[in-house]
Amino acid sequence: MSKVFVIDTDKRPLDPIHPAQARQLLRNKKASVLRRFPFTLILKESRPESPVLPLRLKLDPGAKITGIALVNDATGEVVFAAELKHRGFAIRDALTSRRQLRRSRRNRKTRYRQPRFLNRTRPQGWLAPSLQSRVDNIKTWVEKFVKTAPIKAISQELVRFNMQLMRNPDIQGEEYQQGTLCGYETREYLLEKWERQCAYCGVKDVPFQIEHIQARAKGGSNSITNLTLSCSKCNIKKGTKDIKDFLKKEPSRLENILKQAKRPLADAAAVNTTRFALLEVLKETELSVETGSGGLTKFNRSQQNLPKLHWLDAACVGKSTPTLNIKGIKPLLITANGHGTRQICGTDKFGFPKRHRTNKQIHYGFQTGDIVKAVVTSGKKIGEYVGRVFCRATGNFDIATKSGRVSGISYKYCSAIHKKDGYSYEY
Ligand SMILES: [Zn+2]
Repeated sequence: MSKVFVIDTDKRPLDPIHPAQARQLLRNKKASVLRRFPFTLILKESRPESPVLPLRLKLDPGAKITGIALVNDATGEVVFAAELKHRGFAIRDALTSRRQLRRSRRNRKTRYRQPRFLNRTRPQGWLAPSLQSRVDNIKTWVEKFVKTAPIKAISQELVRFNMQLMRNPDIQGEEYQQGTLCGYETREYLLEKWERQCAYCGVKDVPFQIEHIQARAKGGSNSITNLTLSCSKCNIKKGTKDIKDFLKKEPSRLENILKQAKRPLADAAAVNTTRFALLEVLKETELSVETGSGGLTKFNRSQQNLPKLHWLDAACVGKSTPTLNIKGIKPLLITANGHGTRQICGTDKFGFPKRHRTNKQIHYGFQTGDIVKAVVTSGKKIGEYVGRVFCRATGNFDIATKSGRVSGISYKYCSAIHKKDGYSYEY
């Protein structure tokens, strides 16, 4: 069961509690709701002495979605889970559109101007805005969780493959298929490097075997540069033959295999600047930070027979992973929406001005993105509506409820239950 966060009146994070216990605290007026998403209570008394169980915040950063899990290392209980959806692609598209509009304007109207170029500098550690936003999203949430739960350590998936483990993979016979960690890392790496197809016949989507290019019997080594993938047919056909004899009739394939074998996996696939930037950010929290590889995550997850979900991947990051108890956990789905635009004048797809807007964001105490509850007592729309609000200067708002958008709800009926913070939430 996903638990409810509690902090005391001095804002000290306490052990998260069961929802039933939270209801009781609210009923007895010993606590009030601090935040809806994630659900957090604030006690009405100070509890400086009460002991807390340390939790570990685990992160599996991805390009689209980052998995987040809060795990109690001692009991293996997953206390809370979330999936954070980034808006990197939205940022990229907005910047592309802006660049195209400016370029087109220059071509139409300012061709006479001297070009200025090479006059921009980028600070050290600069990341593209779409990547930076991912780091910033995660930073925001790490800070939020550190404030609401007794977090003492962080785990992050840093690299996809642990190259050190593979430098000299100790591979004998079928061992990789038997589920050792080293075998796992090697297998994942080879799948990526050889593009999930048989090196000899190119067949896809079949079970692969790890294949020594230069057969062991002929003195081939166990080094990662001597390994490839093959389907079982080709594996049997090749046997201990020399690869040059085996592929005598296909010289171009032979050449490709030998070339590909020597090449290390492209850096971009194995190393990820965003994740390293995130690691630097996490180190600033002064909690102990553990890092793990993608191979290790997958190994942990398959050892415990867990399905491939972002939050479960997060829970399986790192060596510290205990046997997990995930009973009843429903992840909170967090979507980053940004804070709107600061453009006064939007454009259509041809670059022509489309609309003028005011820079006033707050209308009658509400702003677009607040989550509100409206209890309408008169008129055609009698009823109760909960959802994200879209504000208008007229005071007639739209509310995006679960069952669709309801328009024309007066601000008079609305009360905010979660102020806009740039994210939207679902369970
Ligand atoms: Zn084959």
